[in-house]
Amino acid sequence: ADAVAPVLGVERGASSAVAQVWREGRPACCTDLPPGRGIAAGMPPDRHSVAVPVHLHGALWGALTVVRIGDAARPFAGQDEEQLGHFADLVGLALESAAVQRELIAQATTDPLTRLANHRVLHERLREEVSRSRRHGTGLALVLVDLDHFKLVNDRYGHQAGDLVLREVAARVRACAREHDVVARAGGEELAWLLPGASPGDARAAAERLLVAIRSRGFGEVGPVTASMGIATLEDGVDAVELYRRAAAALYWAKARGRDRVADYRAADDRAAP
Ligand code: GH3
Ligand code: MG
Ligand code: MG
Repeated sequence: ADAVAPVLGVERGASSAVAQVWREGRPACCTDLPPGRGIAAGMPPDRHSVAVPVHLHGALWGALTVVRIGDAARPFAGQDEEQLGHFADLVGLALESAAVQRELIAQATTDPLTRLANHRVLHERLREEVSRSRRHGTGLALVLVDLDHFKLVNDRYGHQAGDLVLREVAARVRACAREHDVVARAGGEELAWLLPGASPGDARAAAERLLVAIRSRGFGEVGPVTASMGIATLEDGVDAVELYRRAAAALYWAKARGRDRVADYRAADDRAAP
């Protein structure tokens, strides 16, 4: 019976058909491999294989192989290479369309400058995480980060230098974040950091760490840059829109109190706000 052999584990120097495809990039047939050379130990010696290359974007991506095992097995020939080649072309096309689709999804969900999640993904994930936290009774915090006097950075050093700062700040947020956190570009020079599972104390500590990570190392020719942050945590009766509004209010207070600081949302401050 024909059996598709696993491609993994083939040694490049082996005499198998797959190894030949790998070396030469052309279809290949092979017969009677000595045991132990490129095939798993314990395989019967009456073994014929044919392999053809699979291409992705014009480059060799892998190989497709069929193996015959047994006393009456017939060796493979040119027409087998041709037939398997047609199938490999289809596999290549399927891979290509999957790769294109992945790329399109990445473009639609990622901010091109910072490589962070974009505004749309942020608000989707915000809704998802709010309802997940409700179901499981776990904490959730949102930290909004806005660069201080960023307009001055652009005015003094140019928009391109500003872009580099923004990109580096994004990298520092990501470095402070945990695997399941969501870090996104909320818009302009404002970033959002969503922390599933975080208590108010966790969120405060995380934001303080980020504050130090931004403040303590300069940004090339631009030199030191600081940021202000507002934190809101999920409470009863708060939905995704209200969580965002609260974090934005807290960010506003951090700016009003002198920037380069973190502010927690507090209802009392909200009532006192203009
Ligand atoms: P504040 O401390 O009050 O936040 O002051 P600010 O200057 O940062 O705030 P303002 O809202 O006045 O200005 C935001 C600046 O951010 C102006 C805008 O040109 C800049 N900005 C927004 N998006 C980008 C971007 O993608 N690249 C660059 N280089 N600058 C950006
Ligand atoms: Mg700003
Ligand atoms: Mg801003």
